[in-house]
Amino acid sequence: MTKSAEAQFTHVTTWLTDMDGVLVRENTAIPGAAELLELWEERGQEYLVLTNNSIYTPRDLAARLARSGLHVAEENLWTSALATAQFLKNQNAGSRAYVIGEAGLTTALHEAGFVLTDTDCDYVVLGETRTYSFEAITNAIRLILNGARFISTNPDTTGPSPEGPMPATGSVAALITAATNLHPYVVGKPNPMMFRSALNQIGGHSETTAMLGDRMDTDIVSGMEAGLRTVLVYSGVTTPQDVERFPFRPTLALDSVADLVELLTVDGQDAAGAAS
Ligand SMILES: [Mg+2]
Repeated sequence: MTKSAEAQFTHVTTWLTDMDGVLVRENTAIPGAAELLELWEERGQEYLVLTNNSIYTPRDLAARLARSGLHVAEENLWTSALATAQFLKNQNAGSRAYVIGEAGLTTALHEAGFVLTDTDCDYVVLGETRTYSFEAITNAIRLILNGARFISTNPDTTGPSPEGPMPATGSVAALITAATNLHPYVVGKPNPMMFRSALNQIGGHSETTAMLGDRMDTDIVSGMEAGLRTVLVYSGVTTPQDVERFPFRPTLALDSVADLVELLTVDGQDAAGAAS
């Protein structure tokens, strides 16, 4: 990458970062992640750790990250469940929702003032669960056919498990779509709504915010569309060869967050010095 791409990060004061493949890999911290979080804390920079996973509450996620040796406060976590609850609150506060999901989603909607019900609702909200109930899916289909609006927390069609891929929210949404002929409005990445709501949450501005991620088709494209500088790291699912296939580029591509720490502490100062 050129010096000018690196220099663009000297004026960044707010950070959004993906979690899996950037900070952690299968519950193990990626080298450099703890140092990056410390650096942001030290400099008093605002940041949010973003995840499309709607199973966990911020408290659960903070505890999971702490077990990996990463200390992230609850208020620094932003999930697709929180983004969905905020979106629906802005749309139609205090209405009724039928939820297929776990504590991450039910807690978020409850705290946003929604009445959770399994009959007579304004919205069917589909999120990630560990076990999808056919009975719950049937109820969702009937409610949607009766006029409930269909919302989904994230588009991911599969999720990881130790035994292999598992069908996830996007696959269940496809089943409901086949039965109702209606598509959900999907809030999580790559919808830039996820980033806009995150920025609102910490009072950040797109001109001074950067997005870190390991996926071109979610993190980088939606960061770019939300008007943010983007940093791709190769510590997750993307290789340098993969990047060539996309019609867009990240602002900067690095091997891992360890390189970002180096850039922000050494090259960053050089670049700032050269610019002044
Ligand atoms: Mg990721």
